[in-house]
Amino acid sequence: MGHRKERKNGYAVKRSDYDSHGDYPLNESETENSPCPVTKRCGGCQWMGMDYQEQLREKEKRVRKLLAPYCGLEGIVGMEQPLYYRNKVHAVFGEDRRHRPISGIYEERTHRIVPVDSCRIENQKADAIIVSVRELLPSFKIRPYNEDTGFGLLRHVLVRMGQASGQILVVLVLASPILPSKNNFVKALLKRHPEITTIVVNVNNRNTSMVLGDREQVIYGKGYIEDTLCGKIFRISPRSFYQVNPLQTELLYAKAMEYAALTGRETVLDAYCGTGTIGIIASERAGQVMGVELNADAVRDARVNAKINQVGNIRFYQNDAGRFLLDMEAQGARVDVVLMDPPRGGSSEEFLSAVARMAPERVVYISCNPETLARDLKYLTAHGYGAERGLVVDMFPFTEHVEVACCLQRKDS
Ligand code: SAH
Repeated sequence: MGHRKERKNGYAVKRSDYDSHGDYPLNESETENSPCPVTKRCGGCQWMGMDYQEQLREKEKRVRKLLAPYCGLEGIVGMEQPLYYRNKVHAVFGEDRRHRPISGIYEERTHRIVPVDSCRIENQKADAIIVSVRELLPSFKIRPYNEDTGFGLLRHVLVRMGQASGQILVVLVLASPILPSKNNFVKALLKRHPEITTIVVNVNNRNTSMVLGDREQVIYGKGYIEDTLCGKIFRISPRSFYQVNPLQTELLYAKAMEYAALTGRETVLDAYCGTGTIGIIASERAGQVMGVELNADAVRDARVNAKINQVGNIRFYQNDAGRFLLDMEAQGARVDVVLMDPPRGGSSEEFLSAVARMAPERVVYISCNPETLARDLKYLTAHGYGAERGLVVDMFPFTEHVEVACCLQRKDS
């Protein structure tokens, strides 16, 4: 392949540069430090334009400061290639003044659409699929939905990719259930992107800021994709939760497993377990695992994931994590290791106090919000635990967000 240059969104593209998927060029002139044309109107990347190494230093510094009273840090793990990492990409569809279809993102805090064809942190193939959907619309006489008039059909497109599997799920979110010339539309999209493995129509006819509605019809393939994380297979359907940066997620979970130091005999609780990823990964080194999760859809996905991986020593419970632990305590049950990955708000005192009373040997806390992590570490370190080590993982380059894994050990053990 020669060094043919193409223009793409005003950037020169050299065909010989490829990203980790092997088939999309990195923009030659586009480095981690170059500006993004829509960064102000989008608001997604607070740190766009900041040198990546500087971002890492700043993130580590902030987390260190917050956790200093409770826990030391091993450092921060950044990405070697911090661009185009998101494997879940969403675009909203609309029309410009001349009724031509546009796709992109909502302007921050408004419902105006900022046209975006390629985003610096989104998977490039996913972005290209969204552009293709848009380009196909006129020949199929499909109009984007207009939020003000309620006229039109296509509201959103969501693309989810399996990093390891290469499988691709495309979700077309429509305002009403019928996609005209459905079969020909599928054919035309597959002709442009034969790598798409499944296409789902999702119907969202409500006036809501939620992207996905309740009704779904699979129009091509199985309706879901699968991906591999830490050697286990996970099913990703349109609505299921899956980390957006699987490369970094693997590092985070591997560190969590190191901290858990399982020998194969332990009873492990995976609290706030979502679709069961952490518990399933832990299951081969544990005696038995219990996963607890509030969201019923996630619990259903978790059970499917356990089955796919033929894990026989894990059970999932749909419950509030705090209530579940109180029930366990009341029954006199024992837990050796708690793995917890709560949402941004952190855990509850009910949960943490039950942990302290049940006194598992170790608690591995995975957090997406260092502030609530600090609050919860304060509680646990005042109630019988020492926070030994922690690691910051940069899961979301160019944004101010991070993930942190933290290892707590019972003091009297
Ligand atoms: N470890 C999971 C993701 C955790 S995200 C994974 O890798 O898939 C946090 C999860 O906590 C979400 O799935 C959310 O539904 C769940 N959650 C929120 N509040 C909860 C509560 N009070 N009790 C149990 N689960 C809760």
